[in-house]
Amino acid sequence: MRILLVEDEKKVCELIARALKAERYAVDVAFDGQSGWEMAEAYAYDLIILDLMLPVLTGTEILRRVRRKNQEVPILILTARDATKEKVQNFEAGADDYLTKPFAFAELLMRVKALLRRGPMSRATVLHVGDLEVDRLAQQVKRAGKRIELTPKEYALLEYLATNPGRVFSRPMIIEHVWDRSFGGLNNIVDVYVRHLRSKVDDPFPTKLIRTVRGVGYGLSEAAES
Ligand code: CA
Repeated sequence: MRILLVEDEKKVCELIARALKAERYAVDVAFDGQSGWEMAEAYAYDLIILDLMLPVLTGTEILRRVRRKNQEVPILILTARDATKEKVQNFEAGADDYLTKPFAFAELLMRVKALLRRGPMSRATVLHVGDLEVDRLAQQVKRAGKRIELTPKEYALLEYLATNPGRVFSRPMIIEHVWDRSFGGLNNIVDVYVRHLRSKVDDPFPTKLIRTVRGVGYGLSEAAES
């Protein structure tokens, strides 16, 4: 896994790079926005960690430029600012996660690992699996053109599965992304919600899209067996 780190405070940059290298990641560093952008353009990184306040080009500008060319690479924003408005702006520009300085390395590593595990991200506004449509902006779901009403958790689960049709997601992955790390409830929560989803998304239609892979987890695909 190759990570690009763009951070102009050299000391902070070195510490982060060292912590990441200790986890066996390959790390390239850039100390200003221009060289950060040039490196991001030149190499296929698995993850980009971006400071916002940078000389020459801001982190937000790099983020916008990267997203114009590469929709998939996960981007983690690192900054001293914690204004909600700016977070929203950067999420809208295509950031995947946000960490406010000062932060603990343990937290940075946890977020880096989570982003890398998630892999390349689909950023399409409307996801399609067969005749199923998941509109991520409106948070609306249609099947064969018919609107399907889902609860917020049902929607989150379906959207997560739809980001990567054909892929099988394990229960712990689903819990981590749809609920959260601190979730300590029922361990069959995923099965319960998949059952709810099936009754709304699959049962009324001849073709079943939600797939169960025994002992592994769940996925969504057009050629699903029931
Ligand atoms: Ca800075």
